[in-house]
Amino acid sequence: MEPLFSPALHIQRHQFVVDFVRGKKPKKVVDLGCGECKLLKKLRFHHEIEMLVGVDINEAKIKRYMHGLAPISTDYLQPSFDWLSIEVYKGSVTQRDARFKGFDLATAIEIIEHLTPADVEHFSAVVFGYMRPGAVVISTPNSDFNPLLPGLSGFRDRDHKFEWSRAEFRSWALRVCSEYGYEVEFTGVGEALHGHHDSVGFCSQIGVFYRLTASYPPNTLGDDEDVFSYTLLYHINYPSLRDNNTLRRVLVSEVLYQAEQLKVRWIEENSGGRCLCLTCGRMKELQIEPHTEVEEKQEGAGAEEDQVLQTSRPNQQDPLNRYVTVPLSALWLNCPKIKKLSGSLVNLRHLLMDEPEVRLSEDGRTVLVKYQEEDQEGDLDFPSEDDGFTEVSCCSNSFEQEEDWEANV
Ligand code: SAM
Repeated sequence: MEPLFSPALHIQRHQFVVDFVRGKKPKKVVDLGCGECKLLKKLRFHHEIEMLVGVDINEAKIKRYMHGLAPISTDYLQPSFDWLSIEVYKGSVTQRDARFKGFDLATAIEIIEHLTPADVEHFSAVVFGYMRPGAVVISTPNSDFNPLLPGLSGFRDRDHKFEWSRAEFRSWALRVCSEYGYEVEFTGVGEALHGHHDSVGFCSQIGVFYRLTASYPPNTLGDDEDVFSYTLLYHINYPSLRDNNTLRRVLVSEVLYQAEQLKVRWIEENSGGRCLCLTCGRMKELQIEPHTEVEEKQEGAGAEEDQVLQTSRPNQQDPLNRYVTVPLSALWLNCPKIKKLSGSLVNLRHLLMDEPEVRLSEDGRTVLVKYQEEDQEGDLDFPSEDDGFTEVSCCSNSFEQEEDWEANV
């Protein structure tokens, strides 16, 4: 049979929530009756969400699907500054759990019709009276639409305890609003074809509830005590640059990578009589001068001046003991990612100080990069020099007069 809706109705329902999240930007979202965790999987890509929680009564179902919520490899390789924590619980929406208070948004997509009428009352009290999220999105089948569903007799699902008409849904929703201090807007997804919409409404009807008051005085549920009736089955914190360990890991690998890149470029160009100006990023004629101590310029004033790569050969006999020194200020100035990750040059030095993978000079101002890795022996030609230490510098800071750096790579 041809699908009645395109995209399929369950996708449209989830898309409705995704669009709502895009517009309202809630930070803490809970999906009640999360089932196969499909909505949670979609919502985890929304940067504004910091906490994503699901609960379902069906433990086996959760366990089958919850691992699909795990971060993927790019989340580890290129973490963002976003913060995301996901938790999935086994529990019933008819029972309270203190961990579910204080959410910005709760969604209950196609779950209410699975509850007995008595449990719908518990659900209303728990969700609107106890959890009290800022907004609630509830979707449920609209029985007015059922005559248009080919071959349907009875309910749309064997587990449904009821299916409300638009009037029945409206009556329940308005009662909940007046009882618990919310207001509601009615909408839906899945439109009837051939101008039937006005007479039957949407296939899935949706109520969007907004909390009017932060607190709810009548304490019918005895919510003074904190109850923990749900069982945590899954918990994951996504890698985030807001976490210091993750930040250091990413920063270290970027510094090592960029320092190595600069070294390789320098060596390539150096052998051709040219060198890389790390300030302007352009190639300049190589000047070999007697070694003088290269002072790293202070952040601010010095940062505008030319930074140079320098080779150091404390032991000329041992090619593996040669280093290219890359000023931290050069890395900070020339690598936007390093700049963004560290925030300031002082911070960059501070963050790298105790990192065993990064070899810093004694004064902590330059990164020492091995001129030739053990497994590269013989691959690289060291530029000819007269003495053990050679400073490679560039002459001017004027961008206009210099050759285009891009053209040299
Ligand atoms: N919300 C999901 C979605 O949109 O795909 C799943 C909808 S599925 C039709 C209904 C879900 O509600 C099932 O996963 C079922 O286990 C869950 N459910 C039924 N009664 C529940 C209860 N009392 N508490 C929590 N979840 C319940």
